[in-house]
Amino acid sequence: MKMSEYIDEAESVLLHTYNRYQIVFDKGEGVYLYDIEGKRYLDFAAGIAVFGLGYNNKKFNDAVKAQVDKLVHTSNYYYNVPAIEAAKKLTKAAGMDRVFFTNSGTEAIEGAIKTARKYAFNKDGKNDHEIIAMNHSFHGRSMGALSVTGNPHYQEAFKPLIGGIKFADFNDLDSVKVLVNDKTCAIILEPVQGEGGIYPATDEFLKGVRKICDENDILLIFDEIQCGMGRSGRMFAHEYAGVKPDVMTVAKALGNGLPIGAFLVNEKAAALVPGDHGTTYGGNPLVCAAADKVFDIFEEEHILENVNEVGAYLSEKLDELVNEYDFITAHRGVGLMQGLEFNVPVGPIAKETIESGVILITAGTNVIRFVPPLIVKKEHVDEMLKTFKGVLDKVNA
Ligand SMILES: *Cc1c(COP(=O)(O)O)cnc(C)c1O
Repeated sequence: MKMSEYIDEAESVLLHTYNRYQIVFDKGEGVYLYDIEGKRYLDFAAGIAVFGLGYNNKKFNDAVKAQVDKLVHTSNYYYNVPAIEAAKKLTKAAGMDRVFFTNSGTEAIEGAIKTARKYAFNKDGKNDHEIIAMNHSFHGRSMGALSVTGNPHYQEAFKPLIGGIKFADFNDLDSVKVLVNDKTCAIILEPVQGEGGIYPATDEFLKGVRKICDENDILLIFDEIQCGMGRSGRMFAHEYAGVKPDVMTVAKALGNGLPIGAFLVNEKAAALVPGDHGTTYGGNPLVCAAADKVFDIFEEEHILENVNEVGAYLSEKLDELVNEYDFITAHRGVGLMQGLEFNVPVGPIAKETIESGVILITAGTNVIRFVPPLIVKKEHVDEMLKTFKGVLDKVNA
């Protein structure tokens, strides 16, 4: 069947919640994707910052296949070895004490919110606790996660959301301070805002928020779902500021494409006990075997070193674009999580770039996001730029 025929079929059966690019992908190899008509694309989106280790990584595939043949699912009434191994590696990498595995990012956020409410409930037995979240944040689409997502457009039709959520301005400590009271149980933020337009938190902001939390016995929740797992050049982006959270969420690159997320807590925030929380699939042997292998490959293939080297190169090149094109107004980012801000809508630019064979994604209406697989090389950056600049020149003309 032709691509257009598949797309017609898709639109007759799938719920129309996305305006998709008109591509049906077939397979991937390294940093390249191929559609079902054989066209090759250089991928600078990685399935929204997920496919860190690249497509068709043999070590990863072999580990997953071996686990498929052994055991895929058992439920959480029992223990399984891949979950134990993945938990040891994740807690060690994160410097956190305990982990709960979920199936997605949004579920990890639900767990973090429940942790915060239970922690406060244990202290005063009250049900009026508040959480401070950030404007322009993104934490997911389920009701709790949506409630702390600072984007009114995503929330509007789904109210009432969960109560007791207040919004402060990212990187503005005073705006956080004025919202703190004795009902506040948590402050939640992304160390680098992703969907909101690639905004890294300042060290000063993270340190200040940590201080507020310490002084008021409030839990600090870092959402590292997008910026974590090496994307920033550190295993977790908050390491740059040397500030540790009480609760942390991870997903996206954790399973390199298999659906696994997690929330981690320090011993103090381990407030959930039997009966408080659960999941049927979460942490099953298959997805945990994948996450376990991801950590091995990070070490064996020196992923962080590559992110730092190629991230610095990408960053330098994107700075040049800001100087070169008047409609590019800013460049922000860390490691292989970079963004270019435009003063024109970026939707058509992304679409044209994709049609020219390079996959890019947007963040909001005026930011182009660069989140390639973490194994990308400088030559791929050059290849991406050649195509991207071709498109920019057309826009400029
Ligand atoms: C993607 C994302 C989520 C939601 O994860 P899902 O797996 O899509 O539910 C939450 N927080 C951040 C920062 C994200 O980037």
